[in-house]
Amino acid sequence: MIFSAPLYIKDRHCGYCNDTKSDYFALESQAKDSNGKSRGGSGDGGVGGELSTKQSIMVGSSITSMTCENYDELINQGFRRSGTFLYKSDLLRTCCRLYTIRTNMSYFKPSKKQRKAINRFIKEICPDESQLSPVVKNSFNLDRILEAQLKSTTFKIKFEPSKFSKEKFQLYKKYQVAVHNDDPSEITERSFTRFLCDSPFTGDEKRGTYDQWQSLDINNWTKETNEKRIGPTHACYYLHDKLIAISVLDFLPSGISSIYFIWDPDYAHLSLGTISGINELQMSQSLGYDWYYLGYYVEDCVKMNYKANFGGEILDVCSEVYYPMEDVKPYLQNGRLFVIGTIGETKQGSELDYEASGRTKGDTVTELNYNAAEDIFGGVDVYRKAKDEARQLLSDHDIGRSDEYKLPQVMPGLIPLSKIQQWLDVGIIGDETSIKIDMFGGVHKFLLGNLNREGRGFYIDCIRLFGLEKMKNSTMILQ
Ligand SMILES: [Zn+2]
Repeated sequence: MIFSAPLYIKDRHCGYCNDTKSDYFALESQAKDSNGKSRGGSGDGGVGGELSTKQSIMVGSSITSMTCENYDELINQGFRRSGTFLYKSDLLRTCCRLYTIRTNMSYFKPSKKQRKAINRFIKEICPDESQLSPVVKNSFNLDRILEAQLKSTTFKIKFEPSKFSKEKFQLYKKYQVAVHNDDPSEITERSFTRFLCDSPFTGDEKRGTYDQWQSLDINNWTKETNEKRIGPTHACYYLHDKLIAISVLDFLPSGISSIYFIWDPDYAHLSLGTISGINELQMSQSLGYDWYYLGYYVEDCVKMNYKANFGGEILDVCSEVYYPMEDVKPYLQNGRLFVIGTIGETKQGSELDYEASGRTKGDTVTELNYNAAEDIFGGVDVYRKAKDEARQLLSDHDIGRSDEYKLPQVMPGLIPLSKIQQWLDVGIIGDETSIKIDMFGGVHKFLLGNLNREGRGFYIDCIRLFGLEKMKNSTMILQ
């Protein structure tokens, strides 16, 4: 992986709540506290006055290159990509909590509304229903939607590389203006390309082979010779040879990840968002992918909480395990932070001892104890302690100045400073740790001990964000 210095981005406009939330707190105690002020003080990376910003707060990094395997692991740590920018939100301080959600057919029970949408869509693309298997009274056959698409003479989905075309851009612009009220003058070919065509993946994964593209055609789903496609794609929906929707997807080793869905407002009656969700769920299953990743779920945002209609499970960024949506839903109410506590195990954003717990990252866990977010992040002690730990790193290892860490001293899903200290103490990280840095137009190897104080602080930030393993084969770009 090649990436640039992690950024902590504050004061960013929030597209989910439009910065209009009255209760934007991660914890009940913050909501009760008068305006959330004074908690943890200010300027120490504590929750402090930052709470009153009511805006989107995230950490991110520009990715020059990574594999789909890298990205697969990262989305299971709570990251998502927008073009080549990789990010995850600061769940403690941002106004809306963005949780990674994934599902598969075992979780999906079509609702009445979804069934209606399916039936409408079938009628549109296959008006002569006598061609399809008969409807059995009081039952719902999901396979009819596939059958209708196979037999339709007017509708087809074409999979292709995530490349720019005028036709796609026109549809994108029409959609953004009509559905998201964007200013037309701000929608440029460049912004469309950066957002939905560019990707950080390497050449082969970007392009795909002829066989791989063929295998994605609905006619070929069940062929056993299928080679699994890996990489980004645009699934283009055509009705009467007119482009009416684009589903922007990443095929990853563990599943199909949905990035964005664009539809023609003239075809709103077809509920194409629902149809594409069902298509992608079915495709995940037919092609042997374990999961369908729907991006972020935001419990208190109508634009985003429709995702719950597909069932599924939600990622706890602190333990990096998933919990069934139905189980954790009570903890998400009012847009609150959830961190499932199994007593004695969950620490602040800690790397779990997966081996001891008999789990691996990305596992689904169904036994719940309680929402430990308040215990872990609610008291001022955790912020004071982290401040002391930052000071200690400075005095023991000359790493960073306590006020110069780019990332907060406490944040769900970041490796805590105490863990870093522990790794330094036992020599998992040390002066001899080798680091690749791209600077002055070339890649150079450095030893951690030879970097200056700020350089070491920067490296520690990268470890806290991406984890130790990922850093072993990565190159950091210093501007
Ligand atoms: Zn918001």
